[in-house]
Amino acid sequence: MKFKAMVLEAFKEPLQMREFEINELPEGSVLVRTLASGVCGSDVHIAKGEDPRTPVPIILGHEGVGEVIEVVGEKKDINNDPIRPKDRVIWNRGIVCRKCYWCTVAKQPHLCPNRKVYGINMSCKDYPHLLGCYSEAIVLLPEVEVLKLSHDMDPSTVVIASCSGATAMNALDSLTEPLVGKTVVVQGVGPLGIFIAVAVKSLGASTVIVIGGSPERLNVAKDFVDVSLNRRELSEEERRRRVLEITHNRGADIVIEATGDSRALLEGFNLLRRGGTYLVAGVAVPQQPIPFFVYENLVLKGITIQGVWVSDTRHLIQAVNVVSSHSKVFEKLVTHRFRLEQANEALKCVEERKALKAVICFE
Ligand code: ZN
Ligand code: ZN
Repeated sequence: MKFKAMVLEAFKEPLQMREFEINELPEGSVLVRTLASGVCGSDVHIAKGEDPRTPVPIILGHEGVGEVIEVVGEKKDINNDPIRPKDRVIWNRGIVCRKCYWCTVAKQPHLCPNRKVYGINMSCKDYPHLLGCYSEAIVLLPEVEVLKLSHDMDPSTVVIASCSGATAMNALDSLTEPLVGKTVVVQGVGPLGIFIAVAVKSLGASTVIVIGGSPERLNVAKDFVDVSLNRRELSEEERRRRVLEITHNRGADIVIEATGDSRALLEGFNLLRRGGTYLVAGVAVPQQPIPFFVYENLVLKGITIQGVWVSDTRHLIQAVNVVSSHSKVFEKLVTHRFRLEQANEALKCVEERKALKAVICFE
């Protein structure tokens, strides 16, 4: 069987349409016809060579939903359901080694140093090639953890669960106290920020304050947000004053960075109450250092700072559940749809921040 895919052959160059042939696959593999491939903000950085993990040539795309074409031998999903042709599936984009300290002792498999990721560090140079989602088909290797989806879930909506959604749930999963009754500030209203806002509200946060720069984006999550602060209309000092007013001059219990820009921390520290928790979830590529005042920002306030790196299978399941119970919001998130051959346009659209969520669709 032959399948077309968009390949990054050299950094900073447009993706090229290439064709790959799939013959035999190892026992336990699943060949999947792609139904939706999310275009992630990280793909823009990866295409420019800014992610130190990425080799070329590579088929980009780490967010996918597909329909099973063929299962080699037997394979069950994470709920122990046998996977069969025509099943609709999503999967954990990362493959971990299950042998290292993090996989076996610390039980933090998303931190496995040997983690391989579809579309990020698995080259298409060698067979079975189809290891990224900007492709008509994807080979899910035997180690991949797969989740069957119900057929009434729209592939282009649920695809957000595989990266932003799962990362959002990893962030919230790292909290040591329940969200019930908490005041939460979310910095950023991209797919990650909106996912976090919806999830924290549905997990019981009493007040969700979102900071963003685009009225259209702020509007998408409005039913889940108590206060929207537009940073183009309000100065940093005005935003801080609003947060203090809402929190009886204490600051928020939790601040979550979902902007992808380390400089957001400089504002975030001033929005957090003494003893609060800061989750840094959006920074995904190396950036310039920021001035960090250990006494004023960290010690004096006794805060906890939690870095959030990618996600694990449990977070994927949590994210799929959030999407399925709030599908109307997530449908609104998908503002741009492209065909596979338009993948370069899709990347440009995301880079220029025209799309809230861009998805490559195949049907
Ligand atoms: Zn991503
Ligand atoms: Zn490992």
